[in-house]
Amino acid sequence: MPPIKKYLFTPGPAPVPPEVLLEMARPIIHHRTPEFSAILDQARERMQPLMGTSQEVILLASSGSGAMEAAVTNLLKPGDQAVFVDGGKFGERWGRLLSAYGMTGHRIKVEWGQAVRPEQVEEALTAHPESRAVFMQTSETSTCAIHPVARIGGLTRRRDVMLVVDGITSVGVFDQKMDEWGVDALLTGSQKALMLPPGLAMIALSDRALARAKEVNTPKFYFDLLRELRLQRDEHTTAWTPAVSLIAGLNKSLEMILAEGLPAVFARHQLMAEAVRAAAPALGLKLIAPENPAPGVTGLLTPSAIDSGKVVRHMRDVLGVSVQGGQDHMKGKLVRIGHMGYVSPFDMLIAIGALEIALQQAGHHNFEPGAGVAAVQKRIERGV
Ligand SMILES: *Cc1c(COP(=O)(O)O)cnc(C)c1O
Repeated sequence: MPPIKKYLFTPGPAPVPPEVLLEMARPIIHHRTPEFSAILDQARERMQPLMGTSQEVILLASSGSGAMEAAVTNLLKPGDQAVFVDGGKFGERWGRLLSAYGMTGHRIKVEWGQAVRPEQVEEALTAHPESRAVFMQTSETSTCAIHPVARIGGLTRRRDVMLVVDGITSVGVFDQKMDEWGVDALLTGSQKALMLPPGLAMIALSDRALARAKEVNTPKFYFDLLRELRLQRDEHTTAWTPAVSLIAGLNKSLEMILAEGLPAVFARHQLMAEAVRAAAPALGLKLIAPENPAPGVTGLLTPSAIDSGKVVRHMRDVLGVSVQGGQDHMKGKLVRIGHMGYVSPFDMLIAIGALEIALQQAGHHNFEPGAGVAAVQKRIERGV
């Protein structure tokens, strides 16, 4: 029998609250109507504080990678050079996108779990002075590590180099200050901290990026950000048929997030992350990113004799608790627990309780059952 109740603690997709599900279940309205325009305007405006910007937020009907592609094709020309931070699967994706469009990506290789050092970016820009942009993640979901975007912004804003940031597991998780940090493009997707199903992406561009987009002639059609901006800002509509239900859901989820209050939302994520981290030593596990851990997802390394894939499968198939394993060379070695969006600190008692049972099942016995759960509970008791 499959478990009757299921828990979703993956680093995307993440759970969707019933209020948002109900909003999305409402009858479809036509998108060229004042009724839809009002929802679109409000949702776009409500995104601004989450992204730390007073720039217009553009909504796209795609997963997060669509916004990554849009950033590349709207801000660079074929033949352009750029630097990208490759500290995991998503950093690597920047490199693949750049080469797909005939651009040259100069890679900064960062060990999984580590943060890029600003000096590495400085060196890359000095070695490749033609570079037009730096592409990076705020939070590299595959390695559960964060990168110092604010400090990189300090470097790029002094040069004629744009800073393009994938904030897919950081927008709505911790404070993003796009304008203050000097970020030229910040993008995210719906299925992580925004408490929505997959299928919607958001991107905001700085004035510098908007000026650059006007000069860029890279072939594109669907993801034409200047066209989208003009229509969304001036005509209160989208270029193509929008994801109507998802946008209505977004407006609802943002209402909930802003009602909780951004400081409280960020503190809740921090508390969940610290609670899961506290469980690691109690279970004899190490963190993959102990120095710069992401607040939205925590990566626990399993001992070499324990296949993390087996642990993850037991949790999902037997216990009904979905978490994720490692990718590429971390396959079999890593358990990633997502704590983003519609998740409460108490949910971490379930996640760690299930992890304990699955670890024991997989042959990892050198901890007292309940030790991880107790560590989570103690951290919750201390409060935010
Ligand atoms: C989930 C994720 C993506 C991928 O987005 P899709 O929605 O799967 O296209 C990109 N970057 C980061 C950091 C992510 O966590």
